[in-house]
Amino acid sequence: MTKNKREDNNCSFCGRPKAEAMMLVTGLHARICDICAEQAFAIVQEETRKISTKSKNADLDLGGRTPKDIKSYLDEYIIGQDEAKKVLSVAVYNHYKRLGQQSSDDVEIEKSNILFVGPTGTGKTLIAKTIARLLNVPFAIVDATVFTEAGYVGEDVESILSRLLQVCDYNVAQAEKGIIYIDEIDKIARKSDNPSITRDVSGEGVQQALLKLLEGADVLVPPQGGRKHPEQKLISVNTRNILFMCGGAFSGLDKIIARRVNTQVIGYKNQEHTEAVKENMLQYVNHIDLRSFGLIPELIGRLPVLVHLNDLDKSAMIKILTEPKNSLIKQYRKLMEMEGIELEFTDDALDLIADTAIEFKLGARGLRSICESVLTDAMYELPGNKKIKRFVIDKEYVGSKLSESKIHKLKAA
Ligand code: ADP
Repeated sequence: MTKNKREDNNCSFCGRPKAEAMMLVTGLHARICDICAEQAFAIVQEETRKISTKSKNADLDLGGRTPKDIKSYLDEYIIGQDEAKKVLSVAVYNHYKRLGQQSSDDVEIEKSNILFVGPTGTGKTLIAKTIARLLNVPFAIVDATVFTEAGYVGEDVESILSRLLQVCDYNVAQAEKGIIYIDEIDKIARKSDNPSITRDVSGEGVQQALLKLLEGADVLVPPQGGRKHPEQKLISVNTRNILFMCGGAFSGLDKIIARRVNTQVIGYKNQEHTEAVKENMLQYVNHIDLRSFGLIPELIGRLPVLVHLNDLDKSAMIKILTEPKNSLIKQYRKLMEMEGIELEFTDDALDLIADTAIEFKLGARGLRSICESVLTDAMYELPGNKKIKRFVIDKEYVGSKLSESKIHKLKAA
């Protein structure tokens, strides 16, 4: 009886008497002291973390998708750019196979970070975004131009990871499997090799700073981004499994490629080939050209998958206007439908919009502003007008709205 009485006052896990514990929580048949409760809580937390990491890894097994499946998913959202979509599908497939690789394997698969080279508005960011959506991993877009070498005014490159942490609510395990798109990577090219680049010398410093991030390292990240402060609590993120995609328009690169290709080609007196390559030089881009452009070899080496994007031609522009699930034309038609008005575009109206976008050299990005200029008056006048049930936008209408608007200011010099 006495023994039972004593046990009633002890922790059932460590045997500590009630008098020595700060607290003893009593259940139906057992008691737990505050110290054991704390330890149990830590064990539960650790196990939960392991389970959630395991299930996250399982999510990343691509769900049995092959590179072909990835490409057909991209086809639903991205018009044209077949070569880029194919190369990217393989790179992403291999990247996620690498994540599933056993650490005991003797052949270590290297990271396949990707570099997109292509004119503005041709779908570089869109492709990266679409891939991230397919894989259901955190995705962040950052602009290389806001970063400066440590010590200068601007953001530290580590804050690239802050953006990724922010999108997944600071879940480090999730962020460590994410995708980061670094835009305008061409703007941090070294100045000396290319007079058209106006960036200062710190461009090269930023390239250097990016190296360890791209390769894979434990990086201390300021949670809110910006500059690191000594008093700030930093989060450690390992970038080994983060897939980096970098993109840039690399204006002037075509001339560098042309110079290289033409010197080679002239040697063979292959006139036909020389003519053909004038069309789209970027398809011949290689790592040497990027070096001449001003990227440092170490950075180029860490971006082994090189993808070029083509200028969008007129038929691609028309498809972009009409085909994707939330294409611009579908959006305007929907807006008008809500007013009880059927909006129609004639084929030659679409032709003119596409031609204008090509003339402005803004890629598909220009389509939106052009459509806004064409439709603003209609969207202002028509709501509330009960008599009009159908409104047709034809070539003349597009032409007159474009000539009235200030849109021509968009035209690239
Ligand atoms: P950039 O190549 O400069 O990164 P984006 O991917 O941001 O260009 O493209 C800008 C917008 O133009 C996209 O949001 C999308 O609406 C449209 N767009 C560009 N290229 C394509 C494409 N190949 N297919 C479908 N839409 C495109």
